[in-house]
Amino acid sequence: MTSNSPELSARAREIALELTSWPSVTGTAGESGFPRRLQEYFRFKGFEESILFPVDARPNLRSNLAVLKRGRSTQTIVLTGHFDTVPYDDYGALADLALRPEALTKSIISRLRQSGESSHALRDFESGDFLAGRGLLDMKAGLAAGLAAMEVYSGDASILFLAVCDEEETSAGARAAAPMLKSMEKEFGLEIKLIINLDAISDQGDGSNGRVVTYGSIGKLLLTAFVHGKQTHAGYPQDGVNAAYVAAELLTEFELSPLLSERTGEELAAPPTALHSKDSKTGYNVTTPQQAWVYWNTLQHKRTAGEVFDIAMEHARRAVERAKSRTGRDIDLISFVELRGKHGHSLPKQDTSLNFPEQSRLATLAIVESLGLSKPTVVMGFGSIPYSAVSLRDESLRAAISKAVQPFSLDSVSYFAGISDMSFFGEASSDLSVVASNTPIWGTSFTLAEPAGYPCINIGPWGRDYHHWLERLHAPYAFETLPKVLLAVIDAVFKKG
Ligand SMILES: [Zn+2]
Repeated sequence: MTSNSPELSARAREIALELTSWPSVTGTAGESGFPRRLQEYFRFKGFEESILFPVDARPNLRSNLAVLKRGRSTQTIVLTGHFDTVPYDDYGALADLALRPEALTKSIISRLRQSGESSHALRDFESGDFLAGRGLLDMKAGLAAGLAAMEVYSGDASILFLAVCDEEETSAGARAAAPMLKSMEKEFGLEIKLIINLDAISDQGDGSNGRVVTYGSIGKLLLTAFVHGKQTHAGYPQDGVNAAYVAAELLTEFELSPLLSERTGEELAAPPTALHSKDSKTGYNVTTPQQAWVYWNTLQHKRTAGEVFDIAMEHARRAVERAKSRTGRDIDLISFVELRGKHGHSLPKQDTSLNFPEQSRLATLAIVESLGLSKPTVVMGFGSIPYSAVSLRDESLRAAISKAVQPFSLDSVSYFAGISDMSFFGEASSDLSVVASNTPIWGTSFTLAEPAGYPCINIGPWGRDYHHWLERLHAPYAFETLPKVLLAVIDAVFKKG
């Protein structure tokens, strides 16, 4: 088999269908069993050097798999992607076919025809270019393209294939894998030159936004505000500070703030938006709410976490000023690290069955209560795992890759907009110290190493409607083009040295 043969695309298709047929929904036994199955598959292909390393100690022990195809050179290109998928109950009566793309596609076509309305999805499927299947687009077709390329590659570079678990929930797989890459470099005697993430890209148009090489990945920080007010009877509202009202001033200040949205050329990082706003009351009475908890999604290109937090404190200051003047009361504004400094003790471990922001709220509440804080106070912090903004720094490497993908008419994009595991592998715009010190559950509910700092890009399949029963892959690109693109990039990176 050669890299130009139609066999290569047939092989990519075959592997994609095989991997899709192995169930691997996040948090299930399928996810835990997947890497061992993949390891067997590689052994069968004669790739003997592999490491299966555990990620967590849940009842279903999850792991990542790294497999090496050793070349004459120690220069190494890493191909990586996640293998977990979202559940498939959204397929309803077709759930039994969710992991059988060919049969599923036929059934979906008849379901859509019966419904009588002409839809984008039906047109796509009828064109013969799109293939349905849970996890096929997101993202086993990407893994398959990488595997097919690796099988056929006959150059001198070494290729390390890294399949990671849990991307869909908390990126536990990539968070564990990033520091492991350093030790694998030593253990196997490798020099990692580039990491290619194989994540899928959504494109509702003709595919020109999907056929891309991406040189970085957007960062994500979850900003939080814990409002500690002063409860009062609603007949005497001026005797207190209504936490729900202060939260509303904060919401008004942050929502879609242009100061917290970044632009790079034509690419815009979406402005902040609140994902949650609730006060602490659980029932009805005429007492005003004592506390409120608000958090916002924020996205970054180049801005450091420290800069984001400074801007957030400025926003919060303006909101608090308005609240002070309306209520006629003094209200403190502090960061979580300042609150923690007043407290001094270590924090209790949180119930890990709760989500990270809720654990962060409870940890903050525990300190506020143990301090017996009487003055109304707004505490700003972060409430979940940060995704670092990363970007490939080496301009000459960028140029070499752009040239290599040109014959396949791929465009280039600065930032992967969909948030990805690249955040843990790539070259970050800032360190995580400000986030670490202002996240109440850092080190207790999760740990996170600094991003590994490798040159990292994304090249993956494209399609439409991820996480939906109409999830569909553009098959000609994924099977015919993508493996060849990967081989061209590997060659170009190796030649560059
Ligand atoms: Zn996904």
